[in-house]
Amino acid sequence: MAGPTFGKMAVIGCGLIGSSVIRAARASGAVGAVAVADASESARKLIVELGYADSVHADPAEAVKDADLVVLCVPVMAMGEAAAAAAPGLKPGAIVTDVGSVKGAPAEALAAAVPQSCFVVPGHPIAGTEQSGPDAGFAELFQNRWVILTPQARTDAPYLEAVDRLTEFWTRLGSNVELMDVAHHDLVLAVTSHLPHLIAYTIVGAAADLEGVTRGEVMKYSAGGFRDFTRIAASDPTMWRDVFLANKDAVLEILGRFTEDLQAMSRAIRWGEGDKLHEHFSRTRDIRRGIIAAGQESAEPNFGRDHRQP
Ligand code: NAP
Repeated sequence: MAGPTFGKMAVIGCGLIGSSVIRAARASGAVGAVAVADASESARKLIVELGYADSVHADPAEAVKDADLVVLCVPVMAMGEAAAAAAPGLKPGAIVTDVGSVKGAPAEALAAAVPQSCFVVPGHPIAGTEQSGPDAGFAELFQNRWVILTPQARTDAPYLEAVDRLTEFWTRLGSNVELMDVAHHDLVLAVTSHLPHLIAYTIVGAAADLEGVTRGEVMKYSAGGFRDFTRIAASDPTMWRDVFLANKDAVLEILGRFTEDLQAMSRAIRWGEGDKLHEHFSRTRDIRRGIIAAGQESAEPNFGRDHRQP
């Protein structure tokens, strides 16, 4: 196995994604030592119990001491605050990245909080599950998944080298890395992830509120498409509140387009335009087949893992 890409990694916020980063980095040998900081006392206790970090801290500035790589894995609206808390401990030359699902405002907050002597390279692994917490992570989460990095507009050699090292890190964790502009990232994710979650949250809430259909019936007959929505609608409320607040503009833009298309579908149903419906459903079936062909069909790959093993 090649030597570690980073001698010491610090992870701030150790829930589903933070603990998966640690497990995957350990399994691949991409890092040497691992330090963790988490705001939650119960999470810190569990991390100590699970034993996958060399040190566990309440103060991010303690965790990042001597770290070559700092990965912020807190909810997107907490990125700036977590980076500011880590800042006094950061060593010059450290690479500071994040995993936030929105890149616009959180990436700006990150850049504002981190000293100039460090390299800020925001990122987002397109991988996850509806679970949260330090015991939900697993080493295979990033295998064959995309990680989008949104580097700053810098072309100096040390910064480009930092981007290369972070690319090497994620590649060792099994991911494919793509570089993207911040605004484009937020628009793409609004379509592929944020709107689908909003629809799931809405549809599950609407079904629960329906008069004339009992809750028991909703549970009993949930196989008809509804069950998949309930899985998505079980996603972490804090994380998703933050995603919609942080990516407001792109989500509202895509929601506007979606509402128009929904109106068109409703008109086709009202006027019995079967051909229109059939043509639309055939097109969407092709998209599904394309996703399967690209190996991206499974939201939560089942590797027969035991979540509680480091
Ligand atoms: P999670 O399981 O809820 O874990 C987040 C952890 O960070 C919690 O233990 C939380 O403690 C802690 N925390 C919150 N604010 C903090 C702060 N200021 N300093 C230190 N620790 C803090 O969340 P997650 O699902 O791993 O998501 C983390 C990030 O990954 C988010 O930015 C999200 O957008 C991104 N992401 C998530 C997914 C996914 O599918 N879940 C996929 C890709 C990217 P408390 O519980 O006390 O708040």
